[in-house]
Amino acid sequence: MKILVINCGSSSLKFQLIDSESERCLAKGLCERIGIEGSMITYAPEGGEKEKTETPMPDHTEAIRLVLEALTNAKTGVVKDLKEIGAVGHRVVHGGEKFSKSALIDEEVLKAVEECNDLAPLHNPANLIGINACRKLMPDTPMVAVFDTAFHQTMPEEAYLYGLPYEYYRKYKIRRYGFHGTSHSYVSKRAAQLLGKSYEELKIIVCHLGNGASVSAVKNGKCVETSMGLTPLEGLIMGTRSGDIDPAILEFIAHKENKSIDEIMTILNKQSGVLGLSDGLSSDFRDLEAGYHKGDAGAVRAMKTFSYRVAKYIGAYAAAMNGVDAICFTAGVGENGPLVRSFVCEYLGYLGVTLDPKANQTRGTETVITTPDSRTAVLSIPTNEELAIARETVRLV
Ligand code: ADP
Repeated sequence: MKILVINCGSSSLKFQLIDSESERCLAKGLCERIGIEGSMITYAPEGGEKEKTETPMPDHTEAIRLVLEALTNAKTGVVKDLKEIGAVGHRVVHGGEKFSKSALIDEEVLKAVEECNDLAPLHNPANLIGINACRKLMPDTPMVAVFDTAFHQTMPEEAYLYGLPYEYYRKYKIRRYGFHGTSHSYVSKRAAQLLGKSYEELKIIVCHLGNGASVSAVKNGKCVETSMGLTPLEGLIMGTRSGDIDPAILEFIAHKENKSIDEIMTILNKQSGVLGLSDGLSSDFRDLEAGYHKGDAGAVRAMKTFSYRVAKYIGAYAAAMNGVDAICFTAGVGENGPLVRSFVCEYLGYLGVTLDPKANQTRGTETVITTPDSRTAVLSIPTNEELAIARETVRLV
């Protein structure tokens, strides 16, 4: 079956068409600046040239119409008829406590997703717009919602509760949810396969280090801890997000700089993280790596502080699981960043981690980066959220 995977944001939309039997990506692309002037669609069939076309996209329905047109285009398309697309898998950011698994989309599911909008006001409404636009254009095609939060729903109460008045949990469901669940699930399973061990008998820590970054602890096949919280702002230092800080800093900055809560949230979400730490140099680790090699003080500071935070979380999660068998690095920086991986592993001697410096040079391949006698295995595993969404979609339809 051919599965269209859609990841819809407020002004962008990423898509892949995946053949579920061969698990090959037949075509992929991106719509940008939806609803803004200068919108464009990028489309690339498997093995073909990438083409970028500037074309008006007043709304998401038009964006999806253009995606479907590209997929069926006589010259560069990869299907003859839309009927060949058996199902659509949608990435949905927040499933709250309602969704611990993916769900076949119907009116009831849509209503439940809408009820989670409060928890992810920037993401869920956009995801819903994408789903509705798709349903309009492909009314007879089954669709599945795959949630970023679902994998983390197995966390025990002591891991997901905050030390706040319990009534806020009761009234508003304020708790840790976690994100990147599709990636944490995919990578932890893949680690078990690569190590030739049973997923249900392993203690695995996954470090998803991209622009957004999170760590999770997966014990005997179930997520027991994760670093992102009610929102993706908590936990690791990220590209532009602060991660954990003393909550009283908000009040301090508000008074000193005469700022509103919204302005401070923008600072914490968009101007902090390695961008802030590097004194504005960059949020992109390629720039930071280059800066580090040139001895740029901001780049050094950002890389070291970022890596230290990752190492601290690994320590906490080894404690939470009473041990760890494997540590995985994934996403942009985790898959491609030998420097960050080596900085993190320098802290892990107590776990018996012995890095293999040559294997650690890998970029974008599945590699065990520790020596064969390392007590804890460390792996670099490229994530594939689209494939994981396609698999979930096939399972449900
Ligand atoms: P997201 O999906 O959250 O936007 P990604 O997983 O794509 O993030 O990761 C983006 C990050 O990965 C960027 O900081 C980028 O610099 C980094 N990255 C990508 N490729 C490389 C590379 N070859 N070397 C070092 N860092 C890289």
